[in-house]
Amino acid sequence: MPEAKNLLTEPQQQKILDAIKAAEHHTSGEIRVHLENHAGKEVLLRAEEVFLELEMQKTKNRNAVLIYVAVKGHQLAIIGDKGINDLVGHDFWKAERDLLIEYFSKNNYTEGLTKAITLIGEQLKKHFPATDESRDELSNEISFKKAETK
Ligand code: CA
Repeated sequence: MPEAKNLLTEPQQQKILDAIKAAEHHTSGEIRVHLENHAGKEVLLRAEEVFLELEMQKTKNRNAVLIYVAVKGHQLAIIGDKGINDLVGHDFWKAERDLLIEYFSKNNYTEGLTKAITLIGEQLKKHFPATDESRDELSNEISFKKAETK
């Protein structure tokens, strides 16, 4: 596997940013993607840690969603903040996770991520439609682990 930072080319990253922007256009919800090499612990715990590091719990409606991928560790997790989590339930996250696993297994990272982002965006739109007050509360940029040691 490539380093997390090298997983996606610039144009591929741009496609993902575009998907996030398009998804967020219709909702007050927020979506972020974080890539790193290894989780270093149980993947859900690490995803929750990253969620807090990125201050994703600070949205007004508690409706941010993080797609977390440990590239070399072959692990991923999708977690939503309380606002959206209470509404969509476990099955939805599992379905999105399964979709990503399917695409990732074929090395279709960009397509998998953009599809998942679009589907998550549709759920966010259903439960948290955009209002006049909606603004981009969290950067759409893909984030990487700050100091990658491995
Ligand atoms: Ca955003």
